[in-house]
Amino acid sequence: MTFLYLNNIKKRATAFLFFMAIVSSFAQVNDSYYLPQQVRYNPAIPTPQQYFGFQVGEWHIQYEQLLGYIKKVASLSDRLQMKEYGKTYENRPLWLLTVSSPQNLSRIDQIKTEHHKLTEPDQASGVSIDNMPLVVWMGYSVHGNEASGTNAVPMVVYYLAAAQDASIDSLLNETVILIDPRINPDGGERFASWVNANKSMNLVSDPNSRELNEMWPGGRYNHYWFDLNRDWLYTQHPESKGRIKQFHEWKPNILTDHHEMGSASSFFFQPGIPARTHPLTPKKNLDFTEKMGKFHAEALDKIGSLYFTKEGYDDFYYGKGSTFPDVQGAIGILFEQASSRGHLQETPHGAMSFAFTIRNQMTTTLSTLKAAKAMRKELLTYQRSFYQEKSTATTKAFVFGNSTDKVRMWEMVNILRQHEIDVYQLAKDEILEGKTFNKGQAYIVPLSQAQHRLIQGIFEKRTSFEDSLFYDISAWSMPHCFNVPYSEVKVPITLGEKLTQNPFPQGNVIGKSNYAYVFEWDGYFAPRAAYELQKKGYKLKVATEPFTAVIEGGTRNFAYGTVEISAGGNQLTSLENLHTLLAQLAARDGVDFYAIQTGLTPTGIDLGSSYVAPMRMPKPLMLVGAGVNPNDAGEIWHLLDTRVNIPLSMADIAQVNRVNLEKYNTLILSSGDYTALNDEKIKAWVRNGGTLIAMTDAVEWAATRGFSPVKIKKIPADSLGPKPYALAERYKGAQLISGAIFQTKIDVTHPIGYGYKEPLLSVFRDNTIFLEKIKDPYNAPLIYTNDPLVSGYITEPNKKRLKDTPSVVATSFGAGKVIVMTDNPNFRAFWYGTNKLFLNAIFFGSNILSGIRGGDDE
Ligand SMILES: [Zn+2]
Repeated sequence: MTFLYLNNIKKRATAFLFFMAIVSSFAQVNDSYYLPQQVRYNPAIPTPQQYFGFQVGEWHIQYEQLLGYIKKVASLSDRLQMKEYGKTYENRPLWLLTVSSPQNLSRIDQIKTEHHKLTEPDQASGVSIDNMPLVVWMGYSVHGNEASGTNAVPMVVYYLAAAQDASIDSLLNETVILIDPRINPDGGERFASWVNANKSMNLVSDPNSRELNEMWPGGRYNHYWFDLNRDWLYTQHPESKGRIKQFHEWKPNILTDHHEMGSASSFFFQPGIPARTHPLTPKKNLDFTEKMGKFHAEALDKIGSLYFTKEGYDDFYYGKGSTFPDVQGAIGILFEQASSRGHLQETPHGAMSFAFTIRNQMTTTLSTLKAAKAMRKELLTYQRSFYQEKSTATTKAFVFGNSTDKVRMWEMVNILRQHEIDVYQLAKDEILEGKTFNKGQAYIVPLSQAQHRLIQGIFEKRTSFEDSLFYDISAWSMPHCFNVPYSEVKVPITLGEKLTQNPFPQGNVIGKSNYAYVFEWDGYFAPRAAYELQKKGYKLKVATEPFTAVIEGGTRNFAYGTVEISAGGNQLTSLENLHTLLAQLAARDGVDFYAIQTGLTPTGIDLGSSYVAPMRMPKPLMLVGAGVNPNDAGEIWHLLDTRVNIPLSMADIAQVNRVNLEKYNTLILSSGDYTALNDEKIKAWVRNGGTLIAMTDAVEWAATRGFSPVKIKKIPADSLGPKPYALAERYKGAQLISGAIFQTKIDVTHPIGYGYKEPLLSVFRDNTIFLEKIKDPYNAPLIYTNDPLVSGYITEPNKKRLKDTPSVVATSFGAGKVIVMTDNPNFRAFWYGTNKLFLNAIFFGSNILSGIRGGDDE
C-alpha cells in the first residue's frame, strides 16, 4: 500500500506530499525523525532505541518497558525525578515524573508550596511570580488504545534529559514539567499486547486485519471498563484519586491530554467549539487556549501535518481531563491524533504509520512547552486572579444532608474535600426551602472560598444552554446523583466547625438478642451486609410491610424492605456468633442492627408474618462480549464486585446459548445488542423462576421478544418539510439526550423501591427509549413526574414524551420475573442515589408478587 502510494505521490498537493514522505520513511525512522535538530544530546543518556533495542513506533511499548526506561534515565539525569502516586486495579504502579532544572529540583517542595499559594486568596498577593516556574502537566493516553501519546513519552523524556543547549536550560529553569506517562496502564497493556501479538513482519495496513481490530472490550477502558477520562470530577477509581491528589498539590497552569480519534481524521488541538464551553469557565481561558494554539499550528506546519480546531470537541463536562483544569485557573488542552491503531493503517489519505502519529504527539508536546515558557507570567497572573476573584453568584452556600444513609453523604464529602473544598458543620438546625437540616446530620459548603467556581460546577442545576449539542453529558449535579437533600442558600448563614477529617460512618448493634435482629435497607452498604450474611449461611427474610418493634430503649418504626435474621428462621438456639459478626458488619458497612426480643410487634406485621418473605441469595450472570456496551456492563461488574462483594459470572452470548443456566437465578442484560441470544432458552429459564433484568436498549429486546409487555414509543420522523442539508447533523444531534437528570416518583412499597424513604428520586438518562403508560397500576415502581427535567438538556417534544411514563416496570413471566429499566442506575459509578434500584432488582426480583403478566401469559 505504501508502494502504491509512492507512485501516486506526484499528483498530490504539497501538504500531502509531506504526509506521504513521512509514511514512506517509516521503516527507517531514526531519532532525528522525532527530535529537534541542531541540538547536542548528552551521550550518557541512552536513546529509547539503545534501551529498548527497537525504535519508538516499531512496537507498542509495554508498560514495564516504559517504566524501565524512565527509571534508567532518572538514574543518570539530574533533571528528572519520579514518584509513585497510586496503583491501578491490576496493581500497576502509577508514576508522575517531575522534570525541571537541577537547581529547581533541589528545592522542588519549596517551589510546590510557593506555587500553591497562588491559589490561596489570603496568601496569593504576597507571592512573587517574577522567578516562579510555570507548572505544566502533560498526560498521555488515558484511553489505553490511543497509544501514540504514551509511545511519544520515551522521546519526550530523552529530549528533556539529554538535550544540551541554552534553550533547554532556560525552559527547565522556567518550568516544572509533570509527566503522567500512561494514565491508564491497565487498558494500555491490553491494547499493546493485542497489537504486538498480531503484528506481522511485513506490516499489514488493511483496516480489516486482526491487528487493527482489537477484541472486546478493547483497551480504551480501565480494568472495570470505565472511561477514566470521565472520572476527573467525582473520582471513583484509584487512577483518578491518585492523580487528582497530585493535581491539587501542584495546581498546574497548563494541563495537556493526548488522545487519538478516527483514522480518517488528521490532528485536533483546542480550542474546541467555543459556544460549547461551560459558562463557569472564564472567557480568558479561551483566549489563552487560542494563543497556545498558534504555537501548535506553527510546529505542525513545519512538519507538514494537517490539523483542525474549533470543531468536533467541546469543553463542557468538567469530568474530562482537558476541561477540569478550566475550572481550576489552569488551561486544559485536548490533543486528538488520527489513530493508526496498529503499526500501519490504510486511510483515505494513504497509509498512516504509528511513527507518524507519535511524531505529532511529540511535536505538540514540545510546542506546548514553548508556549508555556513564552506565556509564563501571564498564566501565573491569570491563575492568581482566578482564585482571588470572589463569587458573584446569588447563591451563598449549599446545605446538604439528613439522617438517612450517612454513607452517601460521607462519599460526597470525600469528593468535595479531595478537591480542596472546605466543608462545614451547621452551626444550628436550619429550615431552608421547607426542608429541615439538622446540626450534626447536614453540612454546609459556602461559596466564600477559593473553589467557588468548582463548587457551583458540582452543585448547580442548569436547564438553559447556548448550544444544544454536547460531546458528553449535560448535567451532573452532585446531590441529585447521590440522592441527598440539599438547598441553595441565598442569604448569609452561620457556619459551624470546619471539617478536618471525614471518618467512615460506622453503624452499631443496638442491644443483644437470642431471638432476632433486624436492619433497614436504606444504608448504601446494607446489600453488602445482607450478602455477607447469606454467604455465611444465614437465611434472611424481608418485611414487605412496615412495622413497629420493641428495641433496646423503646420502640422503633421499620420501613418496607427491613431485613430480618431470626433464630427460628435459622434453626439456631443461640445468636451469639451472629452478634459478633453483626458488630463487624456494622463497622464495615455503616449499618445499624437492632436486637429484637419478641416476635410480637406493637403495630404492623409481626416477625413471623407471611408478609416477611424469604430473601433469595443472588446468583447473577451478566452477558458481556461483542455487542454489549462495555461502560454499562463494567459499571455493574464494578458495583457488584467492589461495593457489594457479589461474585458476578460474566459470559458471552454464544456461551450462554450453550451452557446450562440453572445455577443462576438472575440474568442481567445491560445496554447492548442481543439479537444473537437464544430467547426460547432464556424464556424457559425465566418461566422456571429466574429474574431477567433488561436495561436501557436491552428493554427493546425484552419488549420485541415478548418477555415484557411494555411498549416503546415511536418517535416520529422530522416532518417539517425540506431543510438545508448542512443542518442535518446539528438537528439530529440536538434530538439526543446526551445525559441529563430527571425526576421520578418512586413507589417505596414496591420491592424495587425498598430502602427509599422519600417519594421523589432523581435519575440519570442518556437515551431516547420512552415507554408507553402501562395498564397494571401496581408494577411501575418508578414513573417520571409531570415536569421531569431537573438539570441538563432535552428537547421539548422529548420532554413531552417522557412525562408521566414509567422508567422501571416489573412483570411476572411464568414463575419468574422480568424487570425492565429504561435508565442506567449505575452511571459512571457516581450515581450512588440509584444503585439501590438495580440492587433491589437483584435481591428482591423474586419477591415481586404477580401483577400483570408478560407477553407469554401462562
Ligand atoms: Zn481519547
